[in-house]
Amino acid sequence: MLKFYIETVGCQMNVLDSELAHSSLVQSGLVPTTNRNNADVILFNTCSVRQHAEDKIYSALGRLKHWKVTKPYGVLGVIGCMAQKEQKIIFQRAPHVDLVLGPGQLELLSETVHQLLDEKLQQNRVDREVDQKMESGKKLLVSLKRQEHRHAEVVGSFRLFDPVRNPEARYNRFQAMVRIMFGCDKFCTYCIVPSVRGPEQSRPPQEIIDEIQTLVRQGVVEITLIGQTVNSYRYKTGGKTTLLSDLLYQVSKIEGLQRICFVTNYPRGMDDDLLYAVRDLPKVAKHLHVPAQSGSDAVLRRMKRNYSASEYRELVSRIYATIPNVSMTCDFIVGFCGETDEEFLQTVELVQDCRFKNSFIFKYSERRGTKSAELYADDVQESVKKIRNNILLEIQDKISLEQNQQFIGKTVEILVEGTTKQFETGDVQLSGRTSCDRIVVFDAPDNRLIGQFLKLNIYDAAPFTLFAKQPADS
Ligand code: SF4
Repeated sequence: MLKFYIETVGCQMNVLDSELAHSSLVQSGLVPTTNRNNADVILFNTCSVRQHAEDKIYSALGRLKHWKVTKPYGVLGVIGCMAQKEQKIIFQRAPHVDLVLGPGQLELLSETVHQLLDEKLQQNRVDREVDQKMESGKKLLVSLKRQEHRHAEVVGSFRLFDPVRNPEARYNRFQAMVRIMFGCDKFCTYCIVPSVRGPEQSRPPQEIIDEIQTLVRQGVVEITLIGQTVNSYRYKTGGKTTLLSDLLYQVSKIEGLQRICFVTNYPRGMDDDLLYAVRDLPKVAKHLHVPAQSGSDAVLRRMKRNYSASEYRELVSRIYATIPNVSMTCDFIVGFCGETDEEFLQTVELVQDCRFKNSFIFKYSERRGTKSAELYADDVQESVKKIRNNILLEIQDKISLEQNQQFIGKTVEILVEGTTKQFETGDVQLSGRTSCDRIVVFDAPDNRLIGQFLKLNIYDAAPFTLFAKQPADS
């Protein structure tokens, strides 16, 4: 029984890709393990958004040289965005790596892993000096092809790869992600995604519906539709165009499915039809994640975000006016190339005005291969980035707390997601989320409520957490 281990970093796309990779490896006869040292196949599903994330992967690969000595037939692979972006560099910096596969070629994964295992096991029997033979050409590199070719491969990967769903491969049995589109056409200057994930492509609606129906039969009650710019979803066939709002109506009809979430939205394209769908469809979560990235027009122009701060403010007002009790979350990059104190203060004002539930704040990290790395100097000092990061976090925390305090004394409904604490008494602290994406924790005698929808009374609040009790009559 050959065992595999997958380590995942990065966004929800990667979490889903790892689930699908897990499913296809299990289908091919390999067995999952949570102990990396016991594995015969180790895969890193990687992220290229930050330099730090790539550095960590190189260190992890370096530490696995020893594993390759003890297990010469073992397969060490790198998949995900960094695999697409770094390709040959990975083999140069970590020559003991056997496999590098980008996100558009994941349908080749299990076949490639088995091919490598077969070759190496055979080789190992014949000649124990495996390393030398590997050097002489046994490694596999699925190289980046010209854009139009890659486009075709990406379409192929949708059809062949996405529908493999195995409940054992998921973080739990009642929540699942479903990819509705792949790639991005926006080309923000700081972002590596368009060059590693290719152009935007939307899946046919019927394929998505079929996949969700399969998931619901497996016990899933909440799905998250994912895409790099999910609100750009647009599928044309026979003169008919299906938009994300249309898809939400279709998905809402699936019996047994109870909550529908979708991420990540691009500010342009948050049209009224989408907001009305969120407002009118009870199953659709009342939460929108719409990254602004900056509150300064000059910075937004350098980032090539294609909207101004006032257009973003107008969008936020429209969302709050249209959808009762909606919550919004946001992403910001501080210390982008040339960001002045004044430009940063405009971001502070945007955060103060927009009253987000939470903001995810990142210090700018220059990435080789992006337009911003080519066009602008990464000239904001690290210490200044850190200060700006902390200022914004502090302001956002205060807003998050004020918002959460408004829930004290109210009753909310959550989907119970998991255990956060185990008490000595045997009781547990469980946690779940509301439709507006607020995290709620409460004590319970055991784990049996996980996966269920439950009404709770809120008695206290912190910036990221609401504290609740079960009603006396429950
Ligand atoms: S919208 Fe911009 S930041 Fe988001 S994935 Fe596309 S290029 Fe990257």
